[in-house]
Amino acid sequence: MLQDKITQYTAEINAFSTSNADELEQFRIKFLGTKGIIKDIFDEFKAVSPEEKRTLGKVLNEFKQLAEARYQSLKEETEVAVSSKDSGLDLTLPGEGFDVGSRHPLALVRREIIEIFSKLGFVVAEGPEIEDDWHNFSALNFPEEHPARDMQDTFFIKKGGEKGDIALRTHTSSVQVRMMEHGKPPFRAIMPGRVYRNEAISARAHCFFHQIEGLYVDENVSFADLKQTLFYFVQELYGEGTKVRFRPSYFPFTEPSAEMDISCTICKGAGCPMCKYSGWVEILGCGMVDPNVLENCGIDSKKYSGFAFGMGIERIANLKYEIKDLRFFSENDARFLKQYKTSLI
Ligand SMILES: [Zn+2]
Repeated sequence: MLQDKITQYTAEINAFSTSNADELEQFRIKFLGTKGIIKDIFDEFKAVSPEEKRTLGKVLNEFKQLAEARYQSLKEETEVAVSSKDSGLDLTLPGEGFDVGSRHPLALVRREIIEIFSKLGFVVAEGPEIEDDWHNFSALNFPEEHPARDMQDTFFIKKGGEKGDIALRTHTSSVQVRMMEHGKPPFRAIMPGRVYRNEAISARAHCFFHQIEGLYVDENVSFADLKQTLFYFVQELYGEGTKVRFRPSYFPFTEPSAEMDISCTICKGAGCPMCKYSGWVEILGCGMVDPNVLENCGIDSKKYSGFAFGMGIERIANLKYEIKDLRFFSENDARFLKQYKTSLI
């Protein structure tokens, strides 16, 4: 009997809803008042058999808690409705969400590369994007007739000047020159930055891109140091077991020079369009700093030797994220950028 009543009133409480303060007060008096239903039921409960008391006690307490909780929550809702009506605000409307930004994929890759080299003691060095001929070409052993000096590759800003024509730097090697000119060995630094080339914009070329170069100058630095440093870098960036190979190459500022390939990160060497079915992809150029460059920067090339390397950040990001069109990096399309959400914000 008592159980039936409780069941019936429970349904009534659950079904009850109002935002009207008077109606809510009626509800309170009916169930929770000093002469209310709960008081009556508790009075009835006193008369039931001890056996029933054991089972009904818990049910009764839950019923009382339900009535109180329902009253409290409706009271809060009613108060909000009243106060928002007064202020003209509807505080029951859902809040406006805001998007958390995301790191640019190039910034992510740049940071990862810096972190790896910083473990080896390399510091970050930066320099100006507008450079003179000396820092961008001459000090780096570029011959006068070298095609990189040609108008087709370089954005010239001003002809002439104390240290030659002024141009947008075509590589971050200019920062190496500035560092060596103004300091004393040993040098152990990486130079990240934006560089400019006068090229038509397409999926595979752009008029600006990003490089990270590295320079290590000290006594008795050898090609073995270069190989081991870059081997470590590749294992850290692309995972253990990534193979490397060096191919002889030519750069004006290093001798000997090499290009370094890694086993294709996409197909693991089996062959795919990314590696043109060779199993290898080129990721950077490197070599021993040409003694002429050391001397140009005021460093005794008999006493000191060094290695340098340089890579395009876009190229590294390309292999990591399989971004096939360079133009995506500079279009700032939020749909593209949002894919690289990271906890490293
Ligand atoms: Zn491949």
